[in-house]
Amino acid sequence: MKRIGVLTSGGDAPGMNAAVRAVVRKAASYDMEVYGIKKGYMGLINSDFVRLDSSSVGDIIHRGGTFLRTARCEEFKTEEGQLKALKNLEAFGIEGMVVIGGDGSFRGAIALSRKGVPTIGIPGTIDNDIPFTDYAIGFDTALNTVVEAVNKVRDTATSHERTFVIEVMGREAGHIALYAGLASGAETILVPEIPFNMDDICKKIINGYKRGKLHSIIIVAEGAASGFDIGNKIKEKTGFETRVIVLGHLQRGGTPSAFDRILASQLGGKAVELLKDNIGDKMVGLVNGELLVTDLEKILVTPKPLDMNIYKLAEILSM
Ligand code: ADP
Repeated sequence: MKRIGVLTSGGDAPGMNAAVRAVVRKAASYDMEVYGIKKGYMGLINSDFVRLDSSSVGDIIHRGGTFLRTARCEEFKTEEGQLKALKNLEAFGIEGMVVIGGDGSFRGAIALSRKGVPTIGIPGTIDNDIPFTDYAIGFDTALNTVVEAVNKVRDTATSHERTFVIEVMGREAGHIALYAGLASGAETILVPEIPFNMDDICKKIINGYKRGKLHSIIIVAEGAASGFDIGNKIKEKTGFETRVIVLGHLQRGGTPSAFDRILASQLGGKAVELLKDNIGDKMVGLVNGELLVTDLEKILVTPKPLDMNIYKLAEILSM
């Protein structure tokens, strides 16, 4: 394979730029050319292609977001949209693709592979809800952003002896809430994977205050409940002053952590190795420190379980 394309799709995640940089420079080491596709699958349909050489990806490894931009594109889900994309790829002589994104983006990657364009998926989502990789690009950075925010909230929570409910992202998954909860020493962590009971939560808060705790931090994954609903229920049941913070999109931005840059570099490099050998329809991930190549189909039908050992540990440590 002599010419490949790369796109970022779906929700952006810090470290996507580092992955594109790795794809471009690894490809250059094989004398392969790379085209960047702007705005995800929309750029494939609109032929929004830009030639990327090694110097054009300089000075981006530390930048959050994605310089290729990202978009959601309904048209690419249709046969007609995919055929338009194929025509454009053919016109540019692009023989293989790298798609950086989440599971929705991987459905598009499967469609491309099936239509004869070998495509490799790289997991890039702060939600970390992709199986067959311990981490997706962006998760570590988002986690650090949440922990930093909770540190600040904790200061004021202690000064005022208040209960704070902090809602974090994660879509239907609780990975951000769980890991951020453990790392920030939250008293309670609510995740969509595990049912919870408001009476138990309130009892824990009341007991904490009785034992002399100066504050209570409750981390709620957006997929588990609305932070405001939880805050209102706590206020109702305990009578404690309760404040609610929804961290929202600030979790998606920021300079990528060293971990995310290294992960992105490894996955980007591996994706190009596979394409060089004409291998497509796979995702590259990192499991137990080793690069792992998995069929994209398998990614879509396998749930990513929450780490129950971490959950139980967080519960014990939050007493
Ligand atoms: P994420 O990749 O973060 O999960 P989305 O679910 O929004 O984000 O998917 C991103 C894009 O991937 C969609 O806007 C669409 O262009 C493409 N896509 C999603 N599902 C399919 C599908 N079934 N077939 C082809 N393309 C798809």
